[in-house]
Amino acid sequence: MSAEPQLHHEFATALPELCVGWLPVSAPAPELRLLNHGVAAGLDIDPEALRSDEWVRVLAGGAAPEGAQPVSQAYAGHQFGGYSPRLGDGRAVLLGEIAGGDGRLVDLHLKGSGRTVFSRGGDGKASLGPMLREYVVSEAMAALRIPTTRALAVTETGEDVWRDGPERGAVLARVAASHIRVGTFQFAAATGDVALLARLIEFAIRRHFPHLSGRPDAALELLGAVVHSQAELVASWMHVGFVHGVMNTDNVAISGETIDYGPCAFMDRHDAATVFSSIDHQGRYAYGNQPSVMQWNLARFAETLLAAIDDDRERAIAAATDTLHGYAPAYRSAWLRGARAKLGIGGGDDEADHRLVDDLLELMTVARADHTLTFRDLARWLRGDRDPLTARLASGPGLAEWLVRWTGRVGAAPRDAVADAMDAVNPIYIPRNAVVEDALAAAVEERDLGEVERLVAVLADPFTERSVGERYALASPPDYDGAYTTFCGT
Ligand code: AMP
Ligand code: MG
Repeated sequence: MSAEPQLHHEFATALPELCVGWLPVSAPAPELRLLNHGVAAGLDIDPEALRSDEWVRVLAGGAAPEGAQPVSQAYAGHQFGGYSPRLGDGRAVLLGEIAGGDGRLVDLHLKGSGRTVFSRGGDGKASLGPMLREYVVSEAMAALRIPTTRALAVTETGEDVWRDGPERGAVLARVAASHIRVGTFQFAAATGDVALLARLIEFAIRRHFPHLSGRPDAALELLGAVVHSQAELVASWMHVGFVHGVMNTDNVAISGETIDYGPCAFMDRHDAATVFSSIDHQGRYAYGNQPSVMQWNLARFAETLLAAIDDDRERAIAAATDTLHGYAPAYRSAWLRGARAKLGIGGGDDEADHRLVDDLLELMTVARADHTLTFRDLARWLRGDRDPLTARLASGPGLAEWLVRWTGRVGAAPRDAVADAMDAVNPIYIPRNAVVEDALAAAVEERDLGEVERLVAVLADPFTERSVGERYALASPPDYDGAYTTFCGT
């Protein structure tokens, strides 16, 4: 294990037009509050090395590591459908890349590290609550086996940031397969520099889809690979009831990882119209809209690649459109695969199984049933413990008929084994909104991170029911979701 992170600067070297050198601002009294030992170990970093005064200053955005060339990355983006040509890291910096255990490079990135050339009117900073929130929710996603950026550390800067009032300033250090976004491609394409676009394509392929290196139709193949990985990603969000909340094109990572944990939250009661974000008045990014929004975002991505796909624009559009048409079937197939696992059934008639799942979701919607716990109750039902399910789904002819169809599909397989397999993919513990807020309040108001740490430990094994305290597995109180509001960029 190497003691300290060894930084590379491949992005800054290969794509200088897409980033700007950044100088750290001061963090007057940095204090490390959370350190992710698992993530550090996965990167061959000794966690103790990150506790040194020098590294705590780095993690708080107060100093650059020895010899490093930190940069802020440029990107554009469609925000709620409107195009902004120049967004970029307004409060973030890429310290460099680190070789992971498998030799692949990952980004080491700070969020909340001070103003940059991309800050516009913002202060470039972040407050403790939202950075801890990203830590908790992204760790939960990782444990749910959903591709995601990971939190490495949360460090307080010792300086207040001003929001509605003074709040404790903090910096999140995170690692990601990369921070190349659809918005990065939008920015590069808008320069009109075809050679720059080609370099970005090559970089993204080498980093994320190395099997496509050297292919003659690299740009089109990249589009196809991103279409596929985003279809898989959104399907996995839908299965756990995750609402990203701000699926702007600058918040879609080419790697296929979930990125930008701003106003995201998990829904309790199953309802396709669920929205948590304070600014999403139209419900553009509602739970049920996520698959089609991603398709829209991928169309914006495809547009950026046209010049690299074919010199003839008509031919480029035809090829890109054809590849984009792969999204709907890829999503449908990823979703159905996941849904079958959730219901403990194997392959069968796609149309019939699709209806089977849709009909269950409809029963859940009508009964205002908790998305997460309904699937655990189904497994209990198979084991012979039937009351929890019938209580949750308002027993009636609809449920009885559905159970007949479902058990017909489960067939003769031993029911306990099927129930165990279901529990292995249906979490019992997710970041419940009320529990997360309580943990953050204790951390921020009482400087007590004990509850955040306990919550992270519970969420680290979301599938195994154990005596961790009942509240971790409880739906929020009725009507909590309706009133629960989350915020961007806080
Ligand atoms: P987000 O909604 O968090 O994806 O951010 C959208 C854009 O706003 C990005 O360009 C961010 O860098 C920028 N931004 C968010 N918060 C701040 C802040 N406090 N200071 C400067 N820029 C910010
Ligand atoms: Mg963002």
